[in-house]
Amino acid sequence: MVKAVVGANWGDEGKGKITDMMAANADIIVRFQGGANAGHTIVNNYGKFALHTLPSGVFYSHTTSIIGNGVALNIPILINEIKSIVDKGVPAPKILVSDRAQIVMPYHILFDQYEEERLGKASFGSTKSGIAPFYSDKYAKIGYQVQELFDEELLKEKVVRTCDQKNVLLEHLYHKPLLTPEELLDTLHQYRDMIAPYVCDTSAFLWNAIKENKTILLEGQLGTLKDPDHGIYPMVTSSSTLAPYGCIGAGIPAQELKQVVTVCKAYSSAVGAGAFVSEIFGDEADELRRRGGDGGEFGATTGRPRRMGWFDCVASKYGCRMQGTTDVAFTVVDVLGYLDEIPVCVGYEIDGEVTTDFPVTSKLEKAKPVLKTLPGWKTDIRGIKKYEDLPENCRNYIEFIEKEIGFPITMVSNGPGRDDIIYRNK
Ligand code: GDP
Repeated sequence: MVKAVVGANWGDEGKGKITDMMAANADIIVRFQGGANAGHTIVNNYGKFALHTLPSGVFYSHTTSIIGNGVALNIPILINEIKSIVDKGVPAPKILVSDRAQIVMPYHILFDQYEEERLGKASFGSTKSGIAPFYSDKYAKIGYQVQELFDEELLKEKVVRTCDQKNVLLEHLYHKPLLTPEELLDTLHQYRDMIAPYVCDTSAFLWNAIKENKTILLEGQLGTLKDPDHGIYPMVTSSSTLAPYGCIGAGIPAQELKQVVTVCKAYSSAVGAGAFVSEIFGDEADELRRRGGDGGEFGATTGRPRRMGWFDCVASKYGCRMQGTTDVAFTVVDVLGYLDEIPVCVGYEIDGEVTTDFPVTSKLEKAKPVLKTLPGWKTDIRGIKKYEDLPENCRNYIEFIEKEIGFPITMVSNGPGRDDIIYRNK
């Protein structure tokens, strides 16, 4: 059975924790898109980890972790990440890398930096991990697939073409040092030697696993609103964040995807630029940021403070719909226990009209939040295991949001740990 864990919003919803938890009953966990630009924070019995490339199931010895063909593969980061978890006492994970995955090249990272520099104030707030230049090259058909690393003749010829093409921009647009074919070839040889032990036809592996009734988890990065088609374009990421894309980015038949767990955080946070209707500022935002997540809402990759906001029913309803949600995992509910009252965004006012449908970017920029205030519960709910044992106002908050978004909240997360989860039978 194939299941996906994806985000409803701007990312950082707590997908890592939900994947880590669901991985207890899974055989294979697959990353299917994105790269090392976003991070998952995971707390378990080995410690606290920020993963950027490895799937969140990597801490169990019974799971196989797969880097699917849809991923932007940064080879040195992957290898360092494997080393860093093994150094902390995690058993050496079983990792397979798709021979069709493409490689983030050092020049992708440079181009990402140079372009953000060039754009100045108009920049996208990129994490400068090379993701946008990487996907541009993939679709321009000038990227490097992992399998190409093992074809020396092809590489020798291709590095020359790459340098010719990239050096035009380096020289004339960015005025930066040029690439040389020799240096590039040397880097690719290093990458080949690093990745060789992990490379295989992962879609064939997954197909066999499906036939053997194995449980496969597709782990998404970021969330619906960062999807290049359905998100807040152009302030989006460069690969699809939607569960159905998981089938493409992993190489499995679409009809095998049976469960889509969409993770929604009990309040909102976002990184990077772009419209964020329910955003809050000042002391109110600082307090939520400081108390949020597990140790504050700061980027797992960049450390930058996240933008904060109240829960957004409009964005989340849309976010869940586009994912094909079967279950909502509602996370970080414990953090709201300090508030007397909790505002929730229930509509967008655009040019004097209120809507609950998530609009295109030009309208989104004009949207003002319509807020409804719900009573807080003013207690610490960590450690509670049964839904009925949650304070009434907390249940009311959850059920109000469930009704607004129109998808069943079957899991409530009330702490960062694996066991901090309350299942609801729906
Ligand atoms: P992801 O990218 O979607 O995996 O999300 P992040 O890892 O960036 O952010 C989630 C943060 O919230 C992490 O620090 C988690 O440890 C933490 N977290 C996840 N679920 C909960 C929860 O229910 N309560 C609290 N307090 N923290 C949580």
